[in-house]
Amino acid sequence: MFGLIGHLTSLEHAQSVARELGYPEYADQGIDFWCSAPPQIVDNITVTSITGQKIEGRYVESCFLPEMLATRRIKAATRKILNAMAHAQKNGINITALGGFSSIIFENFNLEQFREIRNIKLEFERFTTGNTHTAYVICRQVEQASQQLGIELSKATVAICGATGDIGSAVCRWLDAKTDVKELLLIARNHERLINLQAELGRGKIMNLADALPEADIIVWVASMPKGMEIDLSTLRQPCLLIDGGYPKNLATRMQYPGINVLNGGIVEHSLDIDWRIMNIVNMDVPARQLFACFAESMLLEFEKLYTNFSWGRNQITVEKMEQIGQASVKHGFRPLLV
Ligand code: NDP
Repeated sequence: MFGLIGHLTSLEHAQSVARELGYPEYADQGIDFWCSAPPQIVDNITVTSITGQKIEGRYVESCFLPEMLATRRIKAATRKILNAMAHAQKNGINITALGGFSSIIFENFNLEQFREIRNIKLEFERFTTGNTHTAYVICRQVEQASQQLGIELSKATVAICGATGDIGSAVCRWLDAKTDVKELLLIARNHERLINLQAELGRGKIMNLADALPEADIIVWVASMPKGMEIDLSTLRQPCLLIDGGYPKNLATRMQYPGINVLNGGIVEHSLDIDWRIMNIVNMDVPARQLFACFAESMLLEFEKLYTNFSWGRNQITVEKMEQIGQASVKHGFRPLLV
């Protein structure tokens, strides 16, 4: 059995979903209530591969909300993730993806040291961040959507906002090794990590966001921002492809501007309907088929019986592992969402 640990994008979102899913006692509560709410299994999932194989899964809502980070409720945030992991393990799930901020919190607050959760000793090999598949899908979106829009990679400048992150650095590695992209612009706040990434790649221009955006034909957003930001679309190149892989979204609004194409990043579409209701609540356009690539990673590991923490730690995603998970993705009928 596979599992997905997920969370909602804001307090407001959580309240409306609680009402919709039939938890009225959660619907009018403020952030402190969510800080003390335990994890819940809220969905049973059946996925059928195009090979005919069928697997079962569970969706674990951690009750974490990004506002917990913004308001410095760090202890609550870390407890949410550890409790959700313990809940998944206790329910016999073999491989569980840590969606959205779950893996970021796990890494940033060094949760590997807290292995004992009450009477459960966490077995980390039962969990995966899902970031290898997410990075693979974003790279395929760069390659395929650029072609759809007539942007030639050999002449294109690609800006990666969040370049030094787990997903961002993997995207840089792939674009460098597997494409003939002309230029990479590396954006993040910590300069030392940018210098290290540049040295590893042997290329890439370190730039700040405001200077980089007008120079880019393609912008990949994979920064771990608790809230989306506004950008001035009139300063961007036309055409420009914006791939927003953040959860919550890095861009504040659904944008419309001539020549600017915004693509939901790190999202895959399955060839067959998935039996679940959970993607309705995160506003997927086709909820029976579209899902986060990190969630799909745990499905792929279950299909392939690869019970291992395939994606783990930070900045260790190799192009070879992206190819491996990419082959499984195609084999079982997933494809990257396109424009
Ligand atoms: P990491 O924490 O590993 O990396 C985040 C990156 O963003 C770092 O380079 C960080 O560098 C940079 N960053 C953070 N804040 C800012 C800012 N304000 N301005 C510029 N750069 C910033 O995160 P991940 O790679 O694990 O995840 C990235 C995003 O992808 C998250 O939003 C996550 O929720 C989402 N995600 C999506 C998935 C999907 O299936 N679609 C799956 C998993 C994650 P610095 O701190 O130096 O600025």
